[in-house]
Amino acid sequence: MSFKNLQLTEPILKALDAQGYTQPTPIQKQAIPLVLKGRDLLGVAQTGTGKTAAFGIPILQLLNEKKHSKKGIKSLILTPTRELAIQIDESLAAYGKYTSLSHSVIFGGVSQVSQVQKLKRGVDVLVATPGRLLDLMNQGHVDLSHLEIFVLDEADRMLDMGFINDVKKVIRKLPEKRQTLFFSATMPDEIQNLANIMLKNPAKVEVTPPASTVDKIEQRIYFTNKPDKRKLLLHLLESNGIDNALVFTRTKHGADKVARFLDKAKIKSAAIHGNKSQNARQNALKGFKDGKLSVLVATDIAARGIDIDELSHVFNFDLPNVPETYVHRIGRTGRAGNEGIAISFCAAEERKELKDIEKLADIKIPVVEGHPYPMDLNAVPVQAAPQRNRNNNRQRRRY
Ligand code: AMP
Repeated sequence: MSFKNLQLTEPILKALDAQGYTQPTPIQKQAIPLVLKGRDLLGVAQTGTGKTAAFGIPILQLLNEKKHSKKGIKSLILTPTRELAIQIDESLAAYGKYTSLSHSVIFGGVSQVSQVQKLKRGVDVLVATPGRLLDLMNQGHVDLSHLEIFVLDEADRMLDMGFINDVKKVIRKLPEKRQTLFFSATMPDEIQNLANIMLKNPAKVEVTPPASTVDKIEQRIYFTNKPDKRKLLLHLLESNGIDNALVFTRTKHGADKVARFLDKAKIKSAAIHGNKSQNARQNALKGFKDGKLSVLVATDIAARGIDIDELSHVFNFDLPNVPETYVHRIGRTGRAGNEGIAISFCAAEERKELKDIEKLADIKIPVVEGHPYPMDLNAVPVQAAPQRNRNNNRQRRRY
């Protein structure tokens, strides 16, 4: 199926062609016609499925087709992180390149001056994070009275990050008559309740991360001692000639320590996490995308939504406490048809996390033995020793 079958108009088709998109992804195939018809939508999908275009394309087309007499914000896209907000705005710029629509992005952590100037000039589609949006609304810089289409992106992450009350405050200010598109990777009760309140007779579309993507990811586990993890990482980066890797740590402090250690060892690295300024985070991301940095060390929240094509390796320097996070993390590699490798370190105290991940994903992650920094087996009870079946490479995945 091509984009032409989705009733898209020339300016949009031309822009998609310029982006090199040939076929819609499953969520785009399902969502675009529904949004074009004016339906409310509940999209259960995570980053990496093409969901930004699934809502961005029909919004741009609907607004571009209509002759608006009044100036003002016609569509608001609310998303939890600054990185996601910037990426969505960049996508709108690309998909809307041949329309006359204006778009802008607002997020916290930077001066509001240029954001306010852009709002004053008039914006058709506004991308925003909740805190800064509320600030600017309270200061009278944002008028949502002409809003037609509202998108709540990554609703479950809004809840995780403690933004749900801010989101509710924004929703109370929206016109009652509007089209609402609601996206979430998971649907815990609180999110389902919010969807029930916000959506009118919604169509539901649900996609899991493409199995083929996850299937292409080679997963390995290294049992090691906590103090040896940095040396093991350096060893693997050097001995495997790894060009670019995203390394996940559990804490911000841990991310800094790893990045400093690698930098000292002449592996160009940077850490990104919530304590870094917006500029530092953007610079690190840009340096990584441009190939000036080989390693980006990130915490889960900071890395959420980061979209890097051709990422060859993901390292779980620390295993996540929440098993679903493992699936999200490793899904950063193996994108766009490329193969990917996900390497996890497991120290004695992380065995429970490993067990939970293997249970959730219904897999046994192959163990690499014979590496230079093995777990000190005397330090852990004998029954907890890494006795694993090396021949068991069966990897059945139900993500
Ligand atoms: P998203 O899930 O919106 O973050 O998109 C993930 C990645 O897929 C982004 O790099 C998009 O540019 C890319 N993408 C989205 N739709 C398509 C498509 N139909 N064909 C090729 N790439 C796409």
